[in-house]
Amino acid sequence: MPDIPPDSAVMKVEVAGICGTDVKMYAKPPFDEPVIMGHENVGVLTRVGREFASRQGVSEGDRVFVEHYVPCRRCSWCHRGEYRHCEATDWRTNPDARRYGYTSSRNPFNLWGGFAQYLYLPWNAVLHRVPDSVTPELAGIVTPMSNGIEWALFDAGVGYDSTVLIQGPGQQGLAQVVACKQAGASLIVVTGTGRDGARLELAKTLGADHVIDVGSVDVAATVRELTGGEGVDVVLDCTAGAGTAPVLVGMDALRRRGGTMVVQGEMAAFPDFPIKQMTEKAVTLKSARGHSWRACELALAQLASSRFPLHLLTTHTFGLGEVDRAIRAVGGEVDEGVVHVSLLPWLTS
Ligand SMILES: [Zn+2]
Ligand SMILES: [Zn+2]
Repeated sequence: MPDIPPDSAVMKVEVAGICGTDVKMYAKPPFDEPVIMGHENVGVLTRVGREFASRQGVSEGDRVFVEHYVPCRRCSWCHRGEYRHCEATDWRTNPDARRYGYTSSRNPFNLWGGFAQYLYLPWNAVLHRVPDSVTPELAGIVTPMSNGIEWALFDAGVGYDSTVLIQGPGQQGLAQVVACKQAGASLIVVTGTGRDGARLELAKTLGADHVIDVGSVDVAATVRELTGGEGVDVVLDCTAGAGTAPVLVGMDALRRRGGTMVVQGEMAAFPDFPIKQMTEKAVTLKSARGHSWRACELALAQLASSRFPLHLLTTHTFGLGEVDRAIRAVGGEVDEGVVHVSLLPWLTS
């Protein structure tokens, strides 16, 4: 346990959510240094320095969700609550960057990840208070939910009467369903593969109007049929490891002019990218990049509202001794019916 200065705190980790990023990082670590993984962290403040308490307005015993970005708090991105864009959080360009789950544990105070019983919080950690009505398990999905709000609402502008195609019924796709439904979308179509039967059913429970098995029907043609030949306003790509196909299908499924597509783009290159089609259809292409401060607050409010049966997403929990299996479960290698996996560092069994 670190001996902390008055401007910092220690959190007892209750839940660390696991996502596709963990699967990628675990398979291919980006650093040689030792790293405590775990970037979607919820817990209770157990030791709070005097200055930390007055700056952050928190006290010992408070339950908080910690953003994984640990920002400079001075730049213009920070002032806008867009901590993910702050240089101080960008490990791809800044070797001294801080992000929970991707920071060397050789750094001072060592506890820089949620797959541990305690987490160190410096003065600039970004906290969100978890409402009393939200259980720690449910708070474990605040990250996919905040991404849903960021990408669907803020990036793609989904709102009243929008028509949306969501590709991929994993935790991220399902969170987009909730965000779109809450925002007022009039048509929500979700795609998946033959192995996604249960997830597609869950998509319907959460508010999807139609679900499509990409293996058995032509997605773009079906979308056109469902929209009276128009195509959809918005495509949200929440597939993982599906290559270029979802982007090509999405481009086809978008309306004749002026649609928006949000992509996660994992490939280093996109051979034969249909830039002519993109230009002619006046498509706006946006990149899915985490969440802002506001999206986290809205996600917590969504969870607190109990308006959607979001507990159905929290399908699997594991203890610290089973981190390997927990990550593999998210990657689809082990266990059945996985939607969202949480690591509970205090679970004993
Ligand atoms: Zn994540
Ligand atoms: Zn900054």
